[in-house]
Amino acid sequence: MTATEEDGSRFARGRAHLRDFAARWTGTRTFVASSAILLLFLAVTGALHPIAAILSFFFLAGISGARFMAVGETAPIRIGRSRNDESAAALSGGAAVALLDRLPDPVLVVNGSGRVVYVNGAGEMLVGKGAFGRHVVTVLRSAPLVEAINAVIGDDETRTIEYTVPVPVQRNYSAFVSSVQGVGPASKYILVLLRDVTESRRIEAMRADFVAFASHELKTPLASLSGFIDTLRGHAKDDPEARDKFLAIMADQATRMRRLIEDLLSLSRIELREHVRPSDAVDLVGVANDIADGLEPLADQYDVTIAVAAPASLPEVLGDRDELAQVVQNLADNALRYGRAGKRIDISLSPDEKGGKPVVRLTVRDHGPGIPKEHIPRLTERFYRVDAAASRARGGTGLGLAIVKHIVNRHEGTLSIESELGNGAAFSVLLPVAPQ
Ligand code: ADP
Repeated sequence: MTATEEDGSRFARGRAHLRDFAARWTGTRTFVASSAILLLFLAVTGALHPIAAILSFFFLAGISGARFMAVGETAPIRIGRSRNDESAAALSGGAAVALLDRLPDPVLVVNGSGRVVYVNGAGEMLVGKGAFGRHVVTVLRSAPLVEAINAVIGDDETRTIEYTVPVPVQRNYSAFVSSVQGVGPASKYILVLLRDVTESRRIEAMRADFVAFASHELKTPLASLSGFIDTLRGHAKDDPEARDKFLAIMADQATRMRRLIEDLLSLSRIELREHVRPSDAVDLVGVANDIADGLEPLADQYDVTIAVAAPASLPEVLGDRDELAQVVQNLADNALRYGRAGKRIDISLSPDEKGGKPVVRLTVRDHGPGIPKEHIPRLTERFYRVDAAASRARGGTGLGLAIVKHIVNRHEGTLSIESELGNGAAFSVLLPVAPQ
């Protein structure tokens, strides 16, 4: 017999054990119940003396109990007495095992000696095939999990633990380990239910970081405002020149706080709607022209030209006009903020294709100093900046590109960033074309 065949037959034996147990248990209960009804009927009708009926009942119950115990090596039955007899009967004959097999979370059943007697499909993906009959120490790669299983074998106390598997990619699991007494050929089974909690732990960590960053960003201008208020109340009280200077700085700090709060609110609004697809048809050329017109006074101030180039006819995109305007605004703002030394910003629009589907490509390109390559993959993270001081000095909040990424995701589009040091930067967004 090959290893695979042997594994297969071991699994078949494991399932047969569980099936056999279910059948015997159901059979025993049915036998005792129907004997009781029959004896009661005979006693009531006078066919059998009541004392003889009671003695016969105990005799038959004793025989069936002995039969039940004889087939397995098991002793006490604790949870074998099902909370719902109909469910127990309906799930006999291997149905329970088939259902466990379909569970999306890994399930392992271990006997009282620590050997694996059952692994469901999801469990096999985790521990591999061929775990049947092996000791958990050789099957599971986590010492805390093996420890928890051994502890439950020892004291029958249910445990829930969390552990991390570092390789090949770090993953976090939550394990529920509980013992089940006397439900099969062995006297004890340990149920091990695993849940992959990597994603939720990652989101929790991100949220915690986000709150820490946001409060830090707000704390700095707030501390500066409080400091200047004290100064104005104190020694600068009667110094009109100093007062004007400090009030100008305070106005700047207040603007910075307002911008940050607006960006935070904007981000949370977009996140709330991220799973609802926008449904309007939007003329992206009109949006780009509006934004370019709005930025003209500032661009003039920095001596920068903003040019919009688009073919005579371009299909409309499926989207939310206000959100798409925010995408173009944030990208053009950044080009002016960080790339104004290049003196020119090009906003271009063209038809394109993604995965065989028609899309519109919008690119905002500046000719400034560009972005070092190692920073590019992280630019859309919240509060990530190449140079935090330069960003703050230019009114940046560190949230502009995070907002762009979320809006593009909601539109089922893609954002790509290309840059070469000294040669400017190009931010491109692909957006699906609206149906005709
Ligand atoms: P910020 O509010 O700081 O501008 P963003 O999320 O919009 O935040 O951008 C993140 C960082 O990416 C910026 O701080 C800046 O370092 C860099 N960056 C964005 N756009 C450009 C650009 N066009 N040229 C150079 N660097 C840029």
